[in-house]
Amino acid sequence: MTDTLTPVLTDTWDAERSWALSTYLDKGGYAGLRNALAMEPGAVVQAVKDAGLRGRGGAGFPTGMKWGFLPPDDGGPRYLVVNADESEPGTCKDIPLMMASPQHLVEGIAITSYAIGCHHAFVYVRGEVLHVYRRVMNAVQEAYDAGYLGKDVLGSGFDLDVTVHAGAGAYICGEETALLDSLEGMRGQPRLKPPFPAVAGLYARPTVVNNVESIASVPGILKNGPEWFASMGTERSQGHGLFSLSGHVTRPGQYEAPLGITLRELLDLAGGVRAGHELKFWTPGGSSTPMFTAEHLDVPLDYESVGAAKSMLGTRALQIFDETVCVVRAVSRWTDFYAHESCGKCTPCREGTYWMKQVLRRIEAGEGQDGDLELLLDLCENILGRAFCALGDGATSPVTSSIQLFRDEYQAHIDGHGCPFDPSASALFA
Ligand code: NAD
Repeated sequence: MTDTLTPVLTDTWDAERSWALSTYLDKGGYAGLRNALAMEPGAVVQAVKDAGLRGRGGAGFPTGMKWGFLPPDDGGPRYLVVNADESEPGTCKDIPLMMASPQHLVEGIAITSYAIGCHHAFVYVRGEVLHVYRRVMNAVQEAYDAGYLGKDVLGSGFDLDVTVHAGAGAYICGEETALLDSLEGMRGQPRLKPPFPAVAGLYARPTVVNNVESIASVPGILKNGPEWFASMGTERSQGHGLFSLSGHVTRPGQYEAPLGITLRELLDLAGGVRAGHELKFWTPGGSSTPMFTAEHLDVPLDYESVGAAKSMLGTRALQIFDETVCVVRAVSRWTDFYAHESCGKCTPCREGTYWMKQVLRRIEAGEGQDGDLELLLDLCENILGRAFCALGDGATSPVTSSIQLFRDEYQAHIDGHGCPFDPSASALFA
């Protein structure tokens, strides 16, 4: 682990017209694709395995291993689908990446497609972010015009088409199988796994679904070598990643750093918690990861260390809340979100998130009853591991972790028949 930033995906973000192909080429862009095309596809998969790249969408599944799950080529189509439906509360890394430097993604798509034998790749972008959709479309067109996509990519004989698709803005469509249903034109709802998409994905064909940042990290590996990537980060959480700092922090934004950096180090880079205030709680990887407090400032932000501290690295969405924030209010807002975004396919998630929302709202409004905290924990226990997809499990994390860490604050709402905080002081959940 180093204590410095590692500008790889962010290397051009401060340049004028950072998104242009010419800017990307000036920084050595597409050298990774040239190297990959000179290799056997299997060797490209091996390079990504050797680099130790793990999925940057939240789950941290090894990327090269996922590619290796595709069954042997049967002559039929196989697909790459990029999950660009970023929508976990607090998560805000893929959208800036696609806006500032979309060619990292496009080059990554070309390399990955070559590696897995895909001739038609898709990018599924959130429907609301029309500007991102346009930016990625433009980047894809620039790459076609320059010969990095289309027929006979760079004279290699490899053909690749890329389709950019805008969803309609549903959180559930970030779940990979709901995304595939949506891409096929159906209502986005999760499918039963297994079979995993690697075996039966888009149009029931072998499909690799990867997050934007995962795919955008591939060109660097092919350009600089797997050892270069593996030299960053920790032994089992290798490479660089975008850490998104938001909330009560002096300089919120994207900080690209080796995995294993701590929040204390990141806050030093970001000017600390807002002046005159102190850290109360934070999320290591979006709202669906159990929350941390100031006690966790020195937990290395890698999969193993965060897991050992009973949370998850998730999407590295570090939402910072100072002492002015009412934890019940924050959790109540997140639960509203999960209840609203539950697709309704399974009962534990559909009914459980709605029920949790009702209980949290009444506690927040000063109408909480004795036993409400036990009821909330019981609801969480009955959702966890019983929902159809990760949405239900994720919805329980802020509730259980906040009750564990701030039980007294919940109790004060019930006993005092109201919220002891002034919402205007936090200006985040007013
Ligand atoms: P998961 O662990 O079930 O799967 C991760 C990936 O590995 C999937 O692509 C899956 O197909 C693949 N995989 C796992 N086991 C496999 C096997 N045996 N064979 C083949 N492939 C296999 O996690 P998930 O449900 O895909 O994602 C949950 C994560 O998503 C959470 O950790 C959360 O942090 C994150 N998340 C991110 C956002 C966002 O906006 N980026 C939103 C919500 C949740």
